[in-house]
Amino acid sequence: MNIYADNAATTAMSQTAVKAMLPYLTEYYGNPSSLYAFGQRSKEAIEEARATVAKCIGAEPREILFTSGGSEADNQAIRSAAAHGARKGKRHIVSDAIEHHAVLHTLKKLEKEGFEVTYLPVHSDGIVRVEELAAALREDTCLVTVMYANNEIGTIQPIRDIGALCRERGILFHTDAVQAVGHIPVNVAEDHADMLSASAHKFHGPKGVGFLYVRRGIPTVPLIEGGAQERGRRAGTENVAGIVAMAAALEESVGHMAENAEKTAMLRDRLIRGLTEIPHSALNGDPRKRLPGNVNFCFEGIEGESLLLLLDDKGICASSGSACTSGSLDPSHVLLAIGRVHDVAHGSLRLTLGDNTTEEEIDYIIQSVKEVVTYLRGFSPVWRDLIAGKGSFIL
Ligand SMILES: *Cc1c(COP(=O)(O)O)cnc(C)c1O
Repeated sequence: MNIYADNAATTAMSQTAVKAMLPYLTEYYGNPSSLYAFGQRSKEAIEEARATVAKCIGAEPREILFTSGGSEADNQAIRSAAAHGARKGKRHIVSDAIEHHAVLHTLKKLEKEGFEVTYLPVHSDGIVRVEELAAALREDTCLVTVMYANNEIGTIQPIRDIGALCRERGILFHTDAVQAVGHIPVNVAEDHADMLSASAHKFHGPKGVGFLYVRRGIPTVPLIEGGAQERGRRAGTENVAGIVAMAAALEESVGHMAENAEKTAMLRDRLIRGLTEIPHSALNGDPRKRLPGNVNFCFEGIEGESLLLLLDDKGICASSGSACTSGSLDPSHVLLAIGRVHDVAHGSLRLTLGDNTTEEEIDYIIQSVKEVVTYLRGFSPVWRDLIAGKGSFIL
């Protein structure tokens, strides 16, 4: 069997998205900035895509800024809010401990440049508390940035309440919605978001394209200087085919969201039930307030890396921690933030299901993980000590 269970890392492009982009890679290659009709055809395709993307998240077309993906959108949102804040002498930012590195590393840079950042803890359920966020706000807070849904443990934050609070206090609110857009309902008006990041390859569009929603009237600073594309907010000839494909993928995902989410959540819960039968294992993150396709477990007494390699031998693509940290020996900052100790955080497994995942695949995954965990524990010194009564089980 060949099972792709790493949809939080990236997704397969939908046929609709592939079909939509092809003409802009072949026939209609004109530069959107050119004045002749052939170039204007590309320009029109971009503007049509902008309207589609805007409609899918409850925004206006001019509030959509196309980027190279989620990382760039996060960088630009945070940099823009910081620059805007600094002009008014406001240099305090509120975020949380489980953000994606695109957010965390940008914040770390800003700290070196004289900003102060409060990283809210998350509780063991992987969720930020609105009261704690309210208590962290100050007179000089220029930005709150809290992700919509976590890429590792799938937990969904109380975005609407956070947005309402920030709006009431007159503080800019950005949310990294890369894992949410196309998977769960996102509406920038209802969520009171001032800025929101998304990435096409997480909802069956192509890699290397995404967007930043910027509420009307909010100033941005460009990360890339050059031509006047994107109304001066991002220079560089537009990725026309990518933008067109992203819009097609998003429209399709949003159109099938309810049915896909319901089906995927049922499979997710079947997988969670199956893996819970493994002794000394635990689900990471709230079992309910999580993305329909996310399953993340810790297994005591094993190494996540070996688990992944053996699952790969069985044809299963999975991950441990985020794609950025796998390969390094540091345990995931997200698992540490929800209180998993180093040893346990090392034995983690993330399985993220997609729209095409089947029940047979889920049952095969459960069977395979059970076998592999038992096998690895068979020669784990940590496990041997635990069952010999030296040291105590944590999970
Ligand atoms: C994937 C991801 C990103 C980065 O998006 P890219 O388009 O790959 O740059 C940012 N934030 C979250 C939560 C993600 O899952």
